Amino acid sequence: MKKGFNVAIDGPAGAGKSTIAKRVAKELGFIYIDTGAMYRSMALKCVRENVNLSDEQAVVSTCENVMVSIVYENGEQQVILDGENVSGLIRTQEVGNAASTISTYGPVREKLVKLQKELAEVSDVIMDGRDIGTCVLPNAQVKIYLTASSRVRAERRYKEYIEKGMEADIDVIEKEIIERDYRDMNRAISPLKQADDAVLLDSSYMNIDEVVNKMLEIIRNAM
Ligand code: C5P
Repeated sequence: MKKGFNVAIDGPAGAGKSTIAKRVAKELGFIYIDTGAMYRSMALKCVRENVNLSDEQAVVSTCENVMVSIVYENGEQQVILDGENVSGLIRTQEVGNAASTISTYGPVREKLVKLQKELAEVSDVIMDGRDIGTCVLPNAQVKIYLTASSRVRAERRYKEYIEKGMEADIDVIEKEIIERDYRDMNRAISPLKQADDAVLLDSSYMNIDEVVNKMLEIIRNAM
């Protein structure tokens, strides 16, 4: 098989994309690329510098001079922001919401999409995000749109926070998920939507193993 077999996974926040994609990538020996982590690291930079997130110019000029790259440690993706490994700092609701705001700005997206395309050219990858099948990898050999109901997604996020010892309120999480879906699906540039040639997978009533196996079946059929 030639290098550059691309699997694109898109879907709303909390649908299980990263958990599933990581396992599928390991099974197939592919590289897993979490593009949300790249937007989150840019958002972290803005939050740290107290940039007004509604001020596009301010956000864009902050992000212009930022260097985002990814490396792998023991098979796990690490996001490096100006030389600092920020992987452990970007998984908060605050940074996720900030990422959803700054990702509406064209120049921020252009910078990260360029990096994402370059990574997919040289390796067999499973890449997850919001615009992978529609914009980043329109020629991906496999496209999957992974979704679940907002309540199920809120329950999953709630469990994650509680397991990490963080405080959480499930109704607040669900409200923020619905707001984030709305922003991601209704923005002018590269909104979240199912690509015409993507397979729809609703994981609301499936466990992780079932989704992983279904995805492996779809990908192996295409290979
Ligand atoms: O997937 P994750 O929750 O980490 O993504 C954080 C935010 O980054 C999303 O809500 C979305 O607004 C943005 N994003 C995006 N395009 C991607 C990946 C993430 O706009 N390819």
